[in-house]
Amino acid sequence: MAEKRDYYEVLGVSKTASADELKKAYRKLAIKYHPDKNPGDKEAEEKFKEAAEAYEVLSDPEKRQRYDQFGHAGVGGAAGGGFSGGGMSMEDIFSHFGDIFGGGGFGGFGGFGGFGGGGSSRRTRRGSDLRIRVKLTLKEVATGVEKKIKVRKYVACKHCNGTGAEGNNYSTCTTCNGSGVVTRIQNTMLGRMQTQSACPTCGGEGKIISKKCPHCGGEGIVTEEEVITLNIPAGVMEGMQIPLRGKGNAARHGGVNGDLYVLIEEEEHPELMRDENDLIYNALLTLPVAVNGGTIDIPTVDGKAKVKIEAGTQPGKVLRLKGKGLPRVNGYGTGDLLVNIGVYIPEKLTKDERKIFEKLQDSESMKPSDSAKKSFFERFKSMFE
Ligand SMILES: [Zn+2]
Ligand SMILES: [Zn+2]
Repeated sequence: MAEKRDYYEVLGVSKTASADELKKAYRKLAIKYHPDKNPGDKEAEEKFKEAAEAYEVLSDPEKRQRYDQFGHAGVGGAAGGGFSGGGMSMEDIFSHFGDIFGGGGFGGFGGFGGFGGGGSSRRTRRGSDLRIRVKLTLKEVATGVEKKIKVRKYVACKHCNGTGAEGNNYSTCTTCNGSGVVTRIQNTMLGRMQTQSACPTCGGEGKIISKKCPHCGGEGIVTEEEVITLNIPAGVMEGMQIPLRGKGNAARHGGVNGDLYVLIEEEEHPELMRDENDLIYNALLTLPVAVNGGTIDIPTVDGKAKVKIEAGTQPGKVLRLKGKGLPRVNGYGTGDLLVNIGVYIPEKLTKDERKIFEKLQDSESMKPSDSAKKSFFERFKSMFE
């Protein structure tokens, strides 16, 4: 793969460019390289995608900061929290940045939502997909959660039933006589060839609206805020996408709705780290507890657990609390809570306390046993394997 270009260079802006400057620069490029303007031009398509990717990162303050700090490595891959699997598809670009083109995502670029294939040359319009991000706490991940979210999207205009025509006022398209397709005869090297394509006059619909619906201006769609109830299963992970079929944008003039993708994000827990379905807690024991044993409180996803510490517990030991992790998203089993033990060595002691340690200095039992030395060495070695 070719070396990735610097995002600022791609957009032709300085590293200090404001959000507005970025948007303007992206908009200019998007219009210049737009596939509708450059049909079949692979290079323009690549440039179009490159600009979208650059804008996707730089327009997000968090991602921009990561990019400034770490370059492409800081925003690449699933950990970047962006699109699944790196590259953006055209659909991604349109559903993400539709609004940048002004006048709603469809303005000027309508119909890019893709057309259903298959035998018939009459086009079935499909609304574009939507993506929303949902941030969950570990507790919500542990139990699964129902979330109501507001989604602003295109819905079919109720006034005209999504047709765009006031009172069903249509006339048959005279270009294609209602068939929706035009046939062209071309002379090619292989002889005369007949090609069929969607009628440019009616856009393949075979009919023309003679009176536009005043509510949607003949588009058949209007913007609306819909409250969608999400049932998020337990065990989901950062970067997962839940597809909701047909919950995306409605298509113009009827047709099939796009899909809605719910992108899962995870809120950082102040004390627990996640490793797949296991949780990790770093417990720093006091010296007396490590030496004499005791009971400590461990935070769990839904509260606290008491954990018994054996006398003579070594730093680096890992205690495993079975089933105290997160459930697997497929419903099979639950991870564990791993307690990674550290021991706090006191930094400031009173005179009396220091005397106690001085007394112990030459004591035989203070010296590490051969097995302690060995396990310490083994653990160190395993960190490099
Ligand atoms: Zn309407
Ligand atoms: Zn026509």
